[in-house]
Amino acid sequence: MNKIPFLSFNKLHESIRDNVLDAIAQVYDSYWYINGPAVSAFEKEYAAFNRVEHCVGVANGLDAIFLSLKALGIGAGDEVIIPSNTYIATALAVSECGAIPVFAEPDVRTYNLDPRKIEALISSRTKALIPVHMYGQACQMEEILDIANAHKLYVVEDNAQSHGALCNEKLVGSFGDVNATSFYPGKNLGAIGDAGAVTTNRADLADTIRKMRNYGSSKKYYNEIQGYNMRLDELQAAVLNEKLKHLRLWNNERQVLADRYNKQLENVGDVILPYTYPECSHVYHLYVIRTRHRDELQQYLANHGIETLIHYPVPIFMQEAYKHFRKDRAKYPIACALSREVLSLPLYIGLDEEVQDRIVYTIKNYFSSHA
Ligand SMILES: *Cc1c(COP(=O)(O)O)cnc(C)c1O
Repeated sequence: MNKIPFLSFNKLHESIRDNVLDAIAQVYDSYWYINGPAVSAFEKEYAAFNRVEHCVGVANGLDAIFLSLKALGIGAGDEVIIPSNTYIATALAVSECGAIPVFAEPDVRTYNLDPRKIEALISSRTKALIPVHMYGQACQMEEILDIANAHKLYVVEDNAQSHGALCNEKLVGSFGDVNATSFYPGKNLGAIGDAGAVTTNRADLADTIRKMRNYGSSKKYYNEIQGYNMRLDELQAAVLNEKLKHLRLWNNERQVLADRYNKQLENVGDVILPYTYPECSHVYHLYVIRTRHRDELQQYLANHGIETLIHYPVPIFMQEAYKHFRKDRAKYPIACALSREVLSLPLYIGLDEEVQDRIVYTIKNYFSSHA
C-alpha cells in the first residue's frame, strides 16, 4: 500500500521544472545576486496580482509582519490584537517590536478573527489589529476595517496562508495599511527556500520598508535609518516569478479538491467541515476538519499510510516561549478546543482523485467501526 503524504511537490514542481531551472540559470549567469532584476520583476508582478500599488520583497513571512509593524511605528508598550489560534510568527513579530500581543478568540465557524470579539479587547495602548486569513479563507474585512477606523487602529493583514483569496471581490493583502505575506515552500505560492513580501497602497510605508530591509539604505553606503538585512533573495524571486503565473490555476485546483472533500465527508461521524462566509472566498492552503476523536482518527489514518498534520497543536499562549500567558488560558476556550480537535487532511496540487477517495474511505471506515 502506497503511503499518502500530507504534502507532495512531485507533480507541481515537475510541471514547471524546465522554466524554473532556466530562471535560476539566468540569475546564476547574470552575476547580480542581491536586489537585482528578478526581485524588481517579482515585486512588480506580485503588486499587479494583488491589485496594490506597492510590493516589497523581504526574506520571509516573519520579517514581513515585523517590518510592517515597525514601519507603522509600533514599539514598546503598544498592544496589537491577533487571533488566539494563529501560527506563532504573528505573535513573534509583535514581540520583536517590543509590543504586546493581545489574543482575540476566533469565529467558531471559520476559525478567523471574529470582528464581534475585537472591541472588548481594545485599550488605550492598542495600536493595531492583525487579521490572519487562516487556512486560506479571507477574514470578514469590512467589519474589521469598520472597527479599526472607529478606534483609529492600524490594520496589518497576515496573508501568509491565503494568496488570492477574496472578501467582497477584493483581494486579501490589499485591505490593511500594510500587509505581510510568506512564500514558505508549502504555501499556495511557495519559493524553494525562505521568502516573503509586504503589499501596500501607501508609498511612504513601502519606502520605509524598502530601506529597513536593506540596512536602512536606499543609496549604497548611505544609511538614513538603522535598518536590517531582511532582503528577498534574487534566486527565490526568480522562482516565484515563474510560479506566480500559475497561482490562479493552482488555487482553482485546491478549491475543486476541497469541494470533493466537502461533498464526500458530509455527515460522517461528528466531523465539522470548513465553513466559508458567502462574501469570502477560501483558497484552501489547508483543508481542516474538526472532530472530538481527532487523536484517534489521526492515528488510524497513520496506521493506514495516510499522513495528516495539526495546525496547530499548541496555542501560542500555552507555548513555553510565551509561558507568562498560560495563566490566562481560561480566556481562550475556542483556541484550546481547536488545538485538540482540528486535523488537516492532505491537499496539494496533483493529488489524484483515487488517492483522495482512499482518504475519504478510510475516514468513513474509522467512524463506522470506532466512534
Ligand atoms: C507561514 C506563516 C507565517 C510565517 O512565514 P515564514 O515565511 O515561515 O516566516 C506567518 N503567519 C502565518 C499565518 C503563517 O502561516
